[in-house]
Amino acid sequence: MQVNRPLGTEDLIDRDARSWNEMQRMAFDMFRRYGYVPVETPMFEQTQLFVHGIGTSTDVVGKEMFTVRSPGALKKMGEGAALKPDEVLSLRPEGTAGTVRAVAQNNLLPTGGAPVKLMYAGPMFRAERPQRGRLRQFHQIGVECLGAHDASIDAETVIMLMRFFEQIGIPGESMRLLVNSMGDENCRPAYRTAIRDYILAHSEDLCDECNRRADTNPLRAFDCKNERCREVMEGAPKISDALCDDCREHYTRFKRHLDDNGIAYEEDPRLVRGLDYYTNTVFEVQVTDGLGSQNAIGGGGRYDKLMSIVSGKDAPGFGFAIGYERIMLALGAAGVDLVGEDALDVYVASVDDSCRDTAFNVMMSLRDAGLFAEADHQGRSLKSQFKQADRYGASICVVLGPDELAEGQVAVRDLATHEQERVRIDDITGYCVDAMQRR
Ligand code: AMP
Repeated sequence: MQVNRPLGTEDLIDRDARSWNEMQRMAFDMFRRYGYVPVETPMFEQTQLFVHGIGTSTDVVGKEMFTVRSPGALKKMGEGAALKPDEVLSLRPEGTAGTVRAVAQNNLLPTGGAPVKLMYAGPMFRAERPQRGRLRQFHQIGVECLGAHDASIDAETVIMLMRFFEQIGIPGESMRLLVNSMGDENCRPAYRTAIRDYILAHSEDLCDECNRRADTNPLRAFDCKNERCREVMEGAPKISDALCDDCREHYTRFKRHLDDNGIAYEEDPRLVRGLDYYTNTVFEVQVTDGLGSQNAIGGGGRYDKLMSIVSGKDAPGFGFAIGYERIMLALGAAGVDLVGEDALDVYVASVDDSCRDTAFNVMMSLRDAGLFAEADHQGRSLKSQFKQADRYGASICVVLGPDELAEGQVAVRDLATHEQERVRIDDITGYCVDAMQRR
């Protein structure tokens, strides 16, 4: 039997796994300077968290959640008994809802305290139709700042993200930052109604899905991939004309901070983002090279109502998530490599079997000294050991032969210059450490 990995998943091997680690390290190093501390929440949560927090009218919750029943739940369902929240669990489709739940549950936001800033990295799960840049298990790095409504938070977070993308090597000219304001509970309801009316007035020109959305989530019609729907929605009223004074002022201050910090952006009044919980600022970063239609590498926004939905407590929030796989595609298109080859420092070769145990000990002491060292474990000939050293990209080859060992010495070959010399076996570790440091 051959078992394959599930549809829409990937094995991250060597360079891919190292790139993922490196991206997290670079992100966390930078985000730390903006006050973020790491958080790890469970990869599954009670389904109701996502249902209430994100909303069933979204694709993410309505169609794409991997939901699991806890053991025993099926039997209870068969008996017609109601399930407890802990018996219906979903793999997290995104990180915000779980992080906000964790802030509330762990009381991280005492009244009057400073905003709490959390950063996370990990896999997310959505049962999407897999394609390039769209997986069922993908990886996100994200941040959430809870406890402040001020536009300066929106601005510092977006600026931080654009600085990060720049730092990891995505060329500025191949990125587009789209921004919009979605208003709040004062101005959005009237706008929502205006869009609903617009959809109903154009129902014949819009797809079934958009028509269905008229009542559940009309703003999502702006997200429709259908070309005709896009054209029709071009003519819809714009939220920018419907913002109340507070939201307009908030949006203006946000944009002023971006301007003052040299961040280029485009206003896109139709950017509504997929999730229900956004208020005020929303944004998305797209790349123009290498990704085709899945061109969003990150996005986020303000969600001042989410905390009260999941916990009954009130606290404004702002955050974003970025997608590791798509960033890697964008970096690939730009010719950027985050990690490079992990080449061997020293290969320890044995001329014959009598030298193998000593070779083992030399290899171990090189590793104890912090070097990346390897030796033969398969009884290969000296010639194929040399080939092996080349394949590993080793810098130095230490060769142990019976004659040299009898004199307490080993041969050392610099594999770049092919220079060879003899070194006392007692000095070999220090010799290799010095040689590697000089490179
Ligand atoms: P979202 O949580 O939908 O706002 O997504 C944030 C970012 O995660 C996107 O901009 C993508 O870079 C990435 N992303 C979302 N869904 C997927 C997916 N199915 N596969 C790969 N990356 C994704």
